Amino acid sequence: MQLLLEIDDRTAKLAEIHRRLQEALGPLGPFLCLDPVSQLVMGLIGGKTRGEVSKAAFEKLQKHFGSWEAVRDAEVTEIHKVICRVTFADVKAIRLKQTLKIITQTNGCLSLERLEELTVEEALAWLERLPGVGRKVAAATLNFSTFRKAALVIDTHHLRVLRRLRFVGEQYTLTQAYDCIMPLLPADWSAGDLDDHHELVKLLGQTVCRYDAPDCGLCALEDLCPSAPQARSSDDHLLGRSI
Ligand code: SF4
Repeated sequence: MQLLLEIDDRTAKLAEIHRRLQEALGPLGPFLCLDPVSQLVMGLIGGKTRGEVSKAAFEKLQKHFGSWEAVRDAEVTEIHKVICRVTFADVKAIRLKQTLKIITQTNGCLSLERLEELTVEEALAWLERLPGVGRKVAAATLNFSTFRKAALVIDTHHLRVLRRLRFVGEQYTLTQAYDCIMPLLPADWSAGDLDDHHELVKLLGQTVCRYDAPDCGLCALEDLCPSAPQARSSDDHLLGRSI
């Protein structure tokens, strides 16, 4: 019973966090929904790279090759040349070509449409077998694309906020955080709500709850956050009395 109450409480807290961030940072978007293969390509080249750099590389790929089939059939060196400004461009060029080839071999054409009929869990598992595809890229392929499936994207900014809010432990990976948070999300949230939630929490992590210096005094979640200085000093006080 105690566990259930705890889960209900965390669901209500996530809904409140969403409401407050919408008020403080929103509205965001609307965002363009790419077709699933394009979204997968965007995710594959975007890891550990600033958004504007990966977007420019994606557009350059489209312009240079004209189709994802042409990228699949190109030499790795040519792909590398086009995406050279993204981080780990050499590895990403190899994985991108491999991934596009595997999709073609498995599905008979360069399409992910067969994922449409799978559950979110099945589709995530299918995508995560592709080279370079982890939970973040797989969830983005399902949620940001025209599939619009209910999969929460969690990136490193989002994960840092979840850790500081103590929804997940310090050592949780992106995949563990996904497995922990998904069952806690309000049941009536649509795929679009999940997309908005990710964008809001990510923006908080980029602007206020930064890696090196969280600006808790400016944070809309300060009174909800166990990592805020105010909460920490009240913890210290309680600890002092119990001794
Ligand atoms: S209160 Fe501070 S630590 Fe907590 S989420 Fe906001 S900025 Fe991050």
